[in-house]
Amino acid sequence: MKHFIDFHTHHPSRQGELVIQQDVDSWGIHPWQADQSAPTEFPSDHPYLAIGECGLDKVCTTPFSLQMEVFLKHIQWSETLRKPLIIHCVKAFDEMLSLRRQSKATQPWILHGFRGKKQQMQSLISHGFYISFGFHYNPQSLLSCPLESMLLETDDDPRPISLLYNQVAIELGISISKLSSQMENNYHTIFGA
Ligand SMILES: [Zn+2]
Repeated sequence: MKHFIDFHTHHPSRQGELVIQQDVDSWGIHPWQADQSAPTEFPSDHPYLAIGECGLDKVCTTPFSLQMEVFLKHIQWSETLRKPLIIHCVKAFDEMLSLRRQSKATQPWILHGFRGKKQQMQSLISHGFYISFGFHYNPQSLLSCPLESMLLETDDDPRPISLLYNQVAIELGISISKLSSQMENNYHTIFGA
């Protein structure tokens, strides 16, 4: 199989794509909505592949303590149900790192839509995070991200993921087919499928 894997999107798949579509393949409570929908149970009757997007956002209006509470719930679900987390994180990277350490979580944590700097990325990677890049990224971070830790996503961008593969392959100076097979390996490692 040769697919363009999209690790986080709000759109259904196009031909030749394998996607983790929000609310279809993954489910979670976004920190922006954490004060509207109190978490009760994870909908475990649905075969979601991943849990999220969830996380921490210091720029939104939801009280941070409430975000923490809701996010901790997702960490628990992720560990009990053995499903990876798709994480939205804005200006809360220190908290994110200490949560990873303190919770001793073993499931993969995917930092989605990463636009941060190289140094920040490297400490995330050293704590076992996967870094998911969309169309907007810091080129230096992309260039120094090990392929085994790199994922690609469109999020809510309407452009096809193949365009991003193209762009990233050029930026990294590797072939699209090498990039796709690495993304496929990462997919298998994360989802065990
Ligand atoms: Zn999203």
